[in-house]
Amino acid sequence: MSTLNVNVVTPDGTVFEGDVEMVSVRAESGELGVLPGHIPLVAPLSVCAARLKHESKVQLVSVSGGFIEVRPDKVTILAEAAETPTKIDVERAREAKKRAEDRLNSAKQEEVDFKRAELALKRANTRLEVAGK
Ligand code: ATP
Repeated sequence: MSTLNVNVVTPDGTVFEGDVEMVSVRAESGELGVLPGHIPLVAPLSVCAARLKHESKVQLVSVSGGFIEVRPDKVTILAEAAETPTKIDVERAREAKKRAEDRLNSAKQEEVDFKRAELALKRANTRLEVAGK
């Protein structure tokens, strides 16, 4: 079966590198599934759990925004932050989730703070999903 070489890179370094059969992410424009031979594209990413399929196994990676660059045989995910399941501190994500929920539930919200809290909540929920919690 043909494969794609995938790199998930953050400002702190490479989080995942390997050959997979399919990459699924949520771009800002919607769900994106990439198979070998895909047309080249660059797209901004939403906060999401990237799914990297290889030999019927799925490697999940939490991705906190950034970009995906697709070439026919190579995918690069350039993320602001990204974690594989074992790198996720579940307690930290739970605390971040609680902080974000408290902000969203508090009265008198400025729109900017609301958006910021919503994004923080998405990051925390995505980390918990990827960690299997
Ligand atoms: P927090 O409020 O807990 O810092 P955050 O969503 O604001 O969460 P980010 O700004 O997305 O954090 O990430 C900052 C750095 O911390 C990144 O390197 C990211 O990989 C890491 N990080 C954030 N949350 C976790 C977590 N729960 N487990 C492991 N690493 C994390």
